Amino acid sequence: MSDTIEKVKCLIIGSGPAGYTAAIYTSRANMFPVLYQGTQPGGQLTTTNDVENFPGYPDGITGPEMMMELQKQAERFGTDVRNGWITKVDFSGDVHKVWVNDEKEIHCDTVIISTGASAKYLGLDSEQKYLKLGGGVSACAVCDGFFYRNQEVVIVGAGDSACEEAHYLSKLCKKVTMLVRRDTFRASKIMEARVRNTENIEILMNTETDEVLGDGQVVTGVRAKNSKTGETINIPATGFFVAIGHKPNTDIFKDFLKLDETGYIINEPGTSRTNIQGVFVSGDAADHVYRQAVTAAGTGCMAALDAERYLAAKDATFDVSTPVY
Ligand code: NDP
Repeated sequence: MSDTIEKVKCLIIGSGPAGYTAAIYTSRANMFPVLYQGTQPGGQLTTTNDVENFPGYPDGITGPEMMMELQKQAERFGTDVRNGWITKVDFSGDVHKVWVNDEKEIHCDTVIISTGASAKYLGLDSEQKYLKLGGGVSACAVCDGFFYRNQEVVIVGAGDSACEEAHYLSKLCKKVTMLVRRDTFRASKIMEARVRNTENIEILMNTETDEVLGDGQVVTGVRAKNSKTGETINIPATGFFVAIGHKPNTDIFKDFLKLDETGYIINEPGTSRTNIQGVFVSGDAADHVYRQAVTAAGTGCMAALDAERYLAAKDATFDVSTPVY
């Protein structure tokens, strides 16, 4: 083995609530975790303004602040938090190999994958501008819908997520306008029926988003275009919700781990175990259903406990006699 290869007991990939929770637990269990943050330290929550639904913050907290707190908590117990991007893995042998920025090679007894998923956006400049400003663009109705109580919002998408989120928003908002780009829904019939039967949801078929309108700070409306007639309309709205799907960040694992057809890692039900011994998954990389910070944190804890038990079973000399959590 070359001198440049580092050996670690537990490598955590990703720095959202799942990764940091796994780090807190594994460091308190003397597993000396090394955590690589990836290109978006803090994960999806760093693009969220206020987090009001994470238990323990009665006054809410901003996404970036919460991630800094989680990082501090993980570092307090000795987690080695590093900048860097895992570009390649090799899970074919007993020792799991990963490469950082295509250069540094690390050999790991256990790997906890917490790489998350990325919401898809339309890619319009105006959408990205108000997303970055925190001025009314969101990809999570459950996270942000509350801020638009009694207001008018627009949601784009026609899958199960869009229907679920439109229905969720309809209970909070005065009016929800749903933009469906084709003449048909992708969602299941029951989900489509639910939005169609909701009084304050207006559905515009064959309609695409032309521009997100705003005053330079916040969203004030959406310009939508009917793809059949070419007609454009301005829809007044203070919130613009994008629900056109998520992409799990799992490409580098596809040669080794079982993924479903959309790329989510398949875990053994009720555990964080993957099809490779010693490789565990937590958070949105394996979850297309709940996708919440608190559920990600919960599965981060599961991955840490599963990894610790795996090491204990593998190596009777590894000391788990006095777990500290
Ligand atoms: P989907 O891929 O199923 O749907 C994406 C939707 O977004 C489609 O209607 C698609 O339109 C539309 N879309 C994509 N790109 C654009 C664009 N550029 N402009 C406008 N519209 C666009 O993603 P979901 O997140 O809805 O669902 C993912 C998986 O999770 C599915 O298997 C779903 O069934 C499941 N799910 C299940 C739930 C439940 O059972 N309760 C809840 C949520 C999700 P088009 O149809 O024209 O391609």
